[in-house]
Amino acid sequence: MSRELAEKLIKNHSLTVDEYKQLIDNYSPSLAEFLALEAVKARKEIYGNTVYTRGLIEISNICKNDCTYCGIRRSNKNCDRYRLTEDEILQCADEGYSLGFRTFVMQGGEDAYFTDDVLVSIIKKIKSNHPDCAITLSLGERSKESYKRLYDAGADRYLLRHETADKDHYEKLHPEAMSFDNRMQCLKNLKEIGYQVGCGFMVGSPCQESIHLAKDLKFIEEFKPHMCGIGPFIPHKDTPFKDEKQGTVELTCYLLSIIRLINPHILLPSTTALGTIDPSGREKGIKAGANVVMPNLSPVAVRKKYELYDNKICTGEESAQCKDCLSMRMKSIGYEIVTDRGDYKNV
Ligand code: SAH
Repeated sequence: MSRELAEKLIKNHSLTVDEYKQLIDNYSPSLAEFLALEAVKARKEIYGNTVYTRGLIEISNICKNDCTYCGIRRSNKNCDRYRLTEDEILQCADEGYSLGFRTFVMQGGEDAYFTDDVLVSIIKKIKSNHPDCAITLSLGERSKESYKRLYDAGADRYLLRHETADKDHYEKLHPEAMSFDNRMQCLKNLKEIGYQVGCGFMVGSPCQESIHLAKDLKFIEEFKPHMCGIGPFIPHKDTPFKDEKQGTVELTCYLLSIIRLINPHILLPSTTALGTIDPSGREKGIKAGANVVMPNLSPVAVRKKYELYDNKICTGEESAQCKDCLSMRMKSIGYEIVTDRGDYKNV
């Protein structure tokens, strides 16, 4: 039965919500292995054995939001706050460029300091210093006008995880002031403007049931994002979810394979969170069908402060070490990191 559903997914790149739920409920190691082999086959036809890299610059851990799972939430009084200056961000990009990165991801909390004017200036400078690079933003919810201004300044991509496609579940993970509908509207706006857009969710987040994951998969199938960021939920000691269970490597990899089979072209990172719960988590993610890694380019002095969850890896090394370590890891499983913008391939 489950094997038939898997075959159907491979053939049609689509299942009903109920079928996605059955596929998740009927997880077995052998089905996971089958889906992973198929996912890798699908990815290889488009992306070969190359793995794209994105240099992650964590520009600020100051955030006006209070997401219950997140270590940099506003209410966390133990979080040591920082904000990078324009010069510091430009330096990270310069260093990243010389290491071979051709995409920079600026990620941060929703920090009011980063107005459109401030960001436009940074985006334009990075683009003029490195015209062959792509810029990805991951700065949360903003107005459509703001997204448009940043796009016109040169930003190419935007990552905004939807977190969960189920409104009730969304409300269990976020305070009342945050709106599921607005987050979904932001994703639509980003796409309309012309960004390459990424959505995504946490695996094993508190109160998550298989029906929620099934809805996440259906949302991905229908919204057709260019990128999708998924990683295990990991509790953070200074949040209300500190005693919740973390997500598993097995289910995360299983979902990576399914997402690859929904859209063989999708840009799918093997995330730092996956590497945090398992020393070879990122290798396992690639072997399940992911094709992107995102090494850290943030200044070493601030890395530990951008702590979304406990024990986050890659907070002690220099950027060059981070890049070399990931290159080696990818080589060890037969993949190769390339110096490339790593755009979505349509054909
Ligand atoms: N402020 C930006 C960036 C958020 S941080 C935004 O709103 O998009 C990037 C992602 O980290 C989040 O979207 C969330 O899915 C993930 N994250 C946050 N806390 C986490 C935790 N405790 N465990 C695992 N992932 C987490």
